[in-house]
Formats: sequence, structure tokens, C-alpha cells
Amino acid sequence: MPGVTRLSVRNLRKSFGTHEVLKGISLDAQDGDVISLLGASGSGKSTFLRCINLLETPSDGEVWVDSEQIRMIHSKTGSKPASRRQVDHIRSELGMVFQGFNLWSHMTILQNVIEGPLHVLKRPKADCIADAEELLAKVGIADKRHAYPAHLSGGQQQRAAIARALAMKPKVMLFDEPTSALDPELVGEVLRVMRALAEEGMTMLVVTHEMSFARNVSNRVVFMREGVIDSSGSPDDMFGVGASPAFRQFIGHFG
Ligand code: ADP
Ligand code: MG
Repeated sequence: MPGVTRLSVRNLRKSFGTHEVLKGISLDAQDGDVISLLGASGSGKSTFLRCINLLETPSDGEVWVDSEQIRMIHSKTGSKPASRRQVDHIRSELGMVFQGFNLWSHMTILQNVIEGPLHVLKRPKADCIADAEELLAKVGIADKRHAYPAHLSGGQQQRAAIARALAMKPKVMLFDEPTSALDPELVGEVLRVMRALAEEGMTMLVVTHEMSFARNVSNRVVFMREGVIDSSGSPDDMFGVGASPAFRQFIGHFG
């Protein structure tokens, strides 16, 4: 449904003690948007994602997920902090993939993927397994379903983590440097899965240092610097003449 706002962040602020890490960030994602979030280490990218899914409580501002059922989540200026139910709701709409693979090591790949649908969504086990097998085939590791995470390569584990997130049927997928911990030869297989997801129309917010992904897969590039959005635009604008001096300096480091 193009034109539907899936994610809306208004004036998000986050401090740790006296250190203000996010200084008023606003961002909208429409259905099917693939937004690459770029920025130097320490600029606040992970904190931003963690505030969106309420792993961190924002100090101020609003996070709205899915305009079909817009919810005010947190704002000092008016409404109350998120209730447990709202937090659960938000999390159920968002899929998250981290840098580390974060699979449950004592469960097989299939068990990892069905865990959420089975125990959180309380769907019938046979349906969960059928869905999981489809997702594992889609990310190219159907043959690993009965293996434990330790027996998979990093790239396979990360693809399993993507399948596990997708099994919850999220409206928006958040990725925090999903390929940064991988050996270079394994990066491509994960990026291909992410690209396929983007082409299917998944709404995605991706923190990445993969400039090829930012340029060629995302439709919007957002550059964060010291807790604010320095600049944003289409990849053509951002990687062309329209980039800010700070962004140009940043991408200079990537050759
Ligand atoms: P990025 O992901 O862009 O590298 P982060 O969001 O991880 O940046 O961190 C931004 C800043 O916030 C850093 O200065 C970091 O030290 C600080 N920070 C992040 N999490 C915490 C925390 N839980 N407590 C205190 N400071 C934190
Ligand atoms: Mg980070």
C-alpha cells in the first residue's frame, strides 16, 4: 500500500545522564521505503533504532508505527509513556536484525524461526512450521533447518536471523549493521537477501556501511551526525552534487 505511513518519528530525543545522544530526530517511512541510515561510529544510529522499538525509552518525542493504528508512544509534552501493551504492540510490528546474529544457540534453526509465531502469536504449530520452511527456503538455508546455529557460517546465521524476524510478519524491518560482523566473503549473500526483501516491497530502515546497498537498493539515504540528521535525500542526490560537505567527507572514507 504505497502512501501508507508505516513509521513516523517526531522530534526524538535521548539522553544518557547529561549526554544527549539524539537531539531531535524526525523521520517518516512510507510503505515500501528502504532507508539507509549512515553515519560515523557514535553518531547515535543504534540508539535511534533502539528507541524506535523501545529497547531504550526515548527522553522525549514520539514514535508512531503503522498509520492504520497510530499510537502515541512517548512524549513528555502531553501524553503518557508507553504502556506494556503498547510496547508489545510496537515490537510486534517491527522486525529487528542486529549486527551479532542473536540466534538462540540451544535451538535448531527451525525452532528459532517458529519460536515467536508459536509462543507469542500463538499460531498453530503446523502453520508455524510451514511458514518457517518457506522463509528458510527464501533466504536459502532450507537444508539447515535442523542444524544448530553454531554449525552455520555467519552469513547463514544472519540469514536465519532475517527469517526469524520475518516469521513475525512485521510491517517494518530494522537492521543495525547486519553485515558488519561478517567475513567479507559472506557479506554478499546477506545483502542479496535484503535486496530481495526490498524488491518485494518491505519497508526497511537499515543502518549500514555498505555504500553499494545505500546507493543501489535504498530509495532514501539519511546521514546522521552527532545526534541530528545532517542531510537526507535520494541516493542520486546524496551521492551526487547535492551532498552536504560533511556527508561528502564521510563517504570519502569509503573510497
Ligand atoms: P552508533 O550506533 O552510531 O555508533 P550509538 O547509538 O551506539 O552510535 O552511540 C551513540 C552515543 O551514545 C555514543 O557516545 C555512546 O557511547 C552513547 N551510548 C549508547 N548507549 C549508551 C548507554 N546505554 N549508556 C550510555 N551511553 C550510551
Ligand atoms: Mg551502532
